[in-house]
Amino acid sequence: MTIGWHFNNTYSKLSDTFREEIKPIPVNSPELVILNENLASELNLNFSKIDKKELSKIFSGNLLPAGSNSIAQAYAGHQFGHFTMLGDGRAVLIGEHMTKSNRKYDIQFKGSGKTAFSRNGDGRAALGPMLREYIISEAMHALKIPTTRSLAVAKTGEDIQREKVLQGAVLTRVASSHIRVGTFQYIAARQKEDELKTLLDYTIDRHYPEIKDSNNKALDLINLLIDRQCNLVVNWMRVGFIHGVMNTDNMAISGETIDYGPCAFMDTYDPKTVFSSIDQTGRYAYCNQPVITKWNLARFAECLVPLINKDQEKAIKTATDTINSFEKKYEEKWMNMMRDKLGLFGLDDKDKFLILDLLTWMHEKKADYTNTFCHLMSLDPKKSELYNDKDFINWKKRWEDRSSKNNSSSKKSIELMRNNNPLFIPRNHKVEEALKAAEQNDLKPFDKILEILEKPYDEQEANVDYQSPSISDEEYKTFCGT
Ligand code: AMP
Ligand code: MG
Repeated sequence: MTIGWHFNNTYSKLSDTFREEIKPIPVNSPELVILNENLASELNLNFSKIDKKELSKIFSGNLLPAGSNSIAQAYAGHQFGHFTMLGDGRAVLIGEHMTKSNRKYDIQFKGSGKTAFSRNGDGRAALGPMLREYIISEAMHALKIPTTRSLAVAKTGEDIQREKVLQGAVLTRVASSHIRVGTFQYIAARQKEDELKTLLDYTIDRHYPEIKDSNNKALDLINLLIDRQCNLVVNWMRVGFIHGVMNTDNMAISGETIDYGPCAFMDTYDPKTVFSSIDQTGRYAYCNQPVITKWNLARFAECLVPLINKDQEKAIKTATDTINSFEKKYEEKWMNMMRDKLGLFGLDDKDKFLILDLLTWMHEKKADYTNTFCHLMSLDPKKSELYNDKDFINWKKRWEDRSSKNNSSSKKSIELMRNNNPLFIPRNHKVEEALKAAEQNDLKPFDKILEILEKPYDEQEANVDYQSPSISDEEYKTFCGT
């Protein structure tokens, strides 16, 4: 019985400029930690007949499947505002897998050893951060947010040196592609129009075939990416997700959330929340995410200037006008998202005040973002005195008045809220607990949190402790590049 790999590799056929051909570097004693059976079956892959030893070899990169053609991809990026040449320094794309319904997915190993782009890094990744990416990316998927997925994590049996010695691991990441804003920046920096055209056509063919015959593909692609990225960041804001390192190399052209480094979910509502230990200035704080999205999109548009119009001045003007449509689009989508969270139908002039007043109250009272919406759905995990506050009660009256103008049943309103307000998010203390245990070979808490986060919109009475924020955000810092 075969696994069902069906590779149709196209990126590896692009010229040398775009990638380096390289195999994952074999590891000492591979050991599978987790395999995502649900995802495997969505991909029409069947590993049930493969023994653990063989699986360990497969998911550590020691045994490449037939049809794989492994490469590291070249890209550049603005990291915290500074332009740098990057590339897959610790990742290898083993191939593009086609499902039976002709959907194509990149299968990539992260932590698979040095490549031509490793610079000073060791090309490896640590177990904790790879399991963390697994938890958060799968949680994002269950939250109905576009994201790369995690198919497996395997330990390498090798130590890696960070601040302290850690266990090495490889994550198998699944993405609809790994083309980034940074990929365009890398090609644009080479100033060869034919290469830029190749990348543009490749990207459109892969992600946006609807514009393949348009008169101005570059401009249309910018507009489509603005839309996708607006949708994405609005979804992040909906659930309190903070990406943490929104460099242009970590923004995918597919519109999926990618590169789970120092990301985390906000507990207490504070727009300035930052989790990343290296983000000293708060560049990637919760409230800055839309601003940075626009900034990254502007970097993307700059790359495409030569293809927008032969007249550079006109091209720049068109690109600038297009990028400046961001705020209006974002605002509209954000307002609609907040209306959904509040179960409001239709539009009302005063909606914005209603929404902002709630957020201001949450900020002032240090209310938990997720649980405040649970309270509004009468699904408080724990009764909290906080909501007896007179300002909150007054606000609630205004909300109820507005809801009565919904022109829809209260059942529909609750349904809308239930579909948009998660009860369960990856609570930082629970994620840490699961990772700590997994590092000691106890996978029970890890399996449990995964199971809970598979159904974030459902009531799970036995798991209310997974709904509470227990340590303060100030104490919680996450690290990237580990
Ligand atoms: P990230 O912070 O994961 O987005 O990574 C930024 C850049 O650093 C990418 O080019 C990565 O491939 C590279 N990188 C991160 N960690 C390592 C490592 N341990 N070895 C080599 N390259 C790395
Ligand atoms: Mg990255």
